[in-house]
Amino acid sequence: MWFFFIAFSAYAYQYQPVLESLSIIGISPGVENVIFTFNKINNYRFIMLSNNYWYIAVPQYTIHINQTPTPRLSVNDILVRDIRNETRIYIKMNDKYTYKYKPILSKNGKYLIVRIEKLFNNTSNKTAKPKTQISHKQTAKTVINLSKPSTKTPVIVIDPGHGGKDPGAIGIYNKEKNIVLDIAKRTAYYLKRKGYKVVLTRNKDTYPTLSDRSQLSNRVKANIFVSIHANYSVKDRKKAKGLEVYFLNTTSDKRAIRLAARENGISIQEVGDINKIILSLIQSAKIEKSKTLALDVYYKMLSYGKKIYAGYKGRGVKQAPFYVLVDTRCPSILIETAFINNPKDALYLKNPVFRKYLAIGIAKGIETYIHSHMKSKIRQ
Ligand SMILES: [Zn+2]
Repeated sequence: MWFFFIAFSAYAYQYQPVLESLSIIGISPGVENVIFTFNKINNYRFIMLSNNYWYIAVPQYTIHINQTPTPRLSVNDILVRDIRNETRIYIKMNDKYTYKYKPILSKNGKYLIVRIEKLFNNTSNKTAKPKTQISHKQTAKTVINLSKPSTKTPVIVIDPGHGGKDPGAIGIYNKEKNIVLDIAKRTAYYLKRKGYKVVLTRNKDTYPTLSDRSQLSNRVKANIFVSIHANYSVKDRKKAKGLEVYFLNTTSDKRAIRLAARENGISIQEVGDINKIILSLIQSAKIEKSKTLALDVYYKMLSYGKKIYAGYKGRGVKQAPFYVLVDTRCPSILIETAFINNPKDALYLKNPVFRKYLAIGIAKGIETYIHSHMKSKIRQ
């Protein structure tokens, strides 16, 4: 059932918040976002009535809703009510699961995102009781904190993309999940030998969700996050080849949007929605550092890769809204090593010597970044 309210209260003459849209986006199999887009709100309350029933309240005013949202994914029902000087948007969830909620209000007051994580009934996976009410100041803080430069041994998280039930792109000789695991393990080996603390998000053929990966990185207080992938061209597998290194930002580049849709496991339309909210959520400091890290890794990978594969093409450092990079609090990049369905690139990706040199390139690039941008215990 959907109730539609257009009302003007006596108090609303100064300012009328408008809920412009409400969308429900699947981020990964375990994570969904409910995104409320307002013209602007200053405060809100997030209230859990039960684990499967919650609401957002915008006090004092009545909200004007332009668009009728349709329940989808784990959201079974949406209901809007005016109660005691506030408008409440009630969300009823599929009761097959238990959930963990995290509301985040963008700095400009435009986007209220409720991040919903499905917790499966697993006794070993006990989570803290969710708070019944979270003020937006508290939650905003958790998004904004960027890890401070430390004088301790840097912690580097290496994330081999996909895995387990998610094969990633299917190449001429191999699946993306296997190739990137091999490169990631080799990269970890070189970095560990240099004395860095290295954490792999997976070291075998398993599937951590995108949020598992970024949460692990925050838990171990990572200083650097590097996600490793292999590219795939739908349009022109003969011509499309080479290396791309991405950092998180919005993009209008159609190819980057298609790539982000594939890597995020969501539709192009949904990438558009994420694109819109990202700029208001991430800090410019993180973007700048990530860009520098991307450049350092890109140039080293290209020079080491070319030692084995003379025609290894550099396609540049680019930006795109990759979800695995949104939640990390440290400089983070995503590497598309080469095209797994390009005949030449695929042949080299199959070659362990080339993979070894790519790994050395990644490790050297990370080291370059650490030496020039972080106070580290480890000297060259
Ligand atoms: Zn991938």
